[in-house]
Amino acid sequence: MKIVRIRAKEIFSKTRIPEASYVINQYVGCQHSCLYCYAKFVCRWKNYGEWGTWVEVKENAPELVKGRLVHGKVVMSSISDPYQPIEAQLRLTRRILENMNRRLRLSILTKSPLVTRDIDLLSEMERCEVGLTVNGFEGQVKDLLEPHAPVHASRIDALRRLVGASIRTFVFISPVIPKLVDVESLLDEVSGLGNHFYVELINTRMAGREFMRVLRSIRRESYDILVDGDRWRAYVEEIRRLISRRREKIALVLHNKLRVENRIRTDLERWIHGE
Ligand code: SF4
Repeated sequence: MKIVRIRAKEIFSKTRIPEASYVINQYVGCQHSCLYCYAKFVCRWKNYGEWGTWVEVKENAPELVKGRLVHGKVVMSSISDPYQPIEAQLRLTRRILENMNRRLRLSILTKSPLVTRDIDLLSEMERCEVGLTVNGFEGQVKDLLEPHAPVHASRIDALRRLVGASIRTFVFISPVIPKLVDVESLLDEVSGLGNHFYVELINTRMAGREFMRVLRSIRRESYDILVDGDRWRAYVEEIRRLISRRREKIALVLHNKLRVENRIRTDLERWIHGE
């Protein structure tokens, strides 16, 4: 794993992520190396090698957050996991939290139970929420799609511990792939473990060709739905109906691939249920 240490000029970056104002990426690149990762496009600008083989570390990030109070929600992170394995040694995310203004509105998203190490600091934040991504991948599917991410059970356990510590939590069910991710049973499993929930459908354009090639080889029936407009739309409607039957507060995140006048257009549709 190539580790590139840099000093950044700024750590709060303006973002177009819905409902958020800023994003913090103290790491760029991710050791979890998920095959479908939407962030791998940064490899176009970072000449360090393939996604998952390098991590850029903004060493001075803790200094850059000190004394800063920005308005609006701050997302941590968008092009990395703040609790990827290297965090256990570097404690960069922890040092950021130590220096962070307690009044910041912080939203952390991770796949790692390492986040529970920082429950003491997270409890001190006045407006903080922590989300765990879950999808239930296991066996060969996990080995191919999320080779180095923590196993499902450890993410559920992390949610339990956060809830037990009275930290506000959310659950990000992603990426939802037909015939591969059972949204209903995941919602049943995490029902009491989040203040709110997201169901994010796979974005095949961002996931890329290699992901589609692998999916085709391991789950032909999933692949066939993703590439067939009518079957995909029927699947989306099925998920909508499922969400509308649930009592939890669930946002559907849909990156809709539409063919318009021979152009591929990508829309982000967010539909909030239960508000
Ligand atoms: S954990 Fe998130 S940021 Fe890291 S590789 Fe997977 S999808 Fe990408």
